[in-house]
Amino acid sequence: MSTGGAIITAMPCRNVDHGDGRHAIVCGPPARARKCIVCGVSTKEPKLCDFPVGKGKTCDAPMCRACARHTDPDTDFCPRHDDFMKGRLKL
Ligand SMILES: [Zn+2]
Ligand SMILES: [Zn+2]
Repeated sequence: MSTGGAIITAMPCRNVDHGDGRHAIVCGPPARARKCIVCGVSTKEPKLCDFPVGKGKTCDAPMCRACARHTDPDTDFCPRHDDFMKGRLKL
């Protein structure tokens, strides 16, 4: 009996965690890495700033997990917008 040798994974599949309990299996070439706007490290699953900038758009600044300022339940801000929001709350 043979084990069949190495398993060839031509199309790598990954489990992408959305961070809110949902997850998806994504197959195919890995997503193109984006650079964190804060520390410059490239990350394949960037957090995008959810700060609304009008017309239904969001800031969308890509950040690594460490730099994104997470707010429950499913919001991430870049440091600039997080500071802006905090400053506004105090006023
Ligand atoms: Zn970063
Ligand atoms: Zn932002």
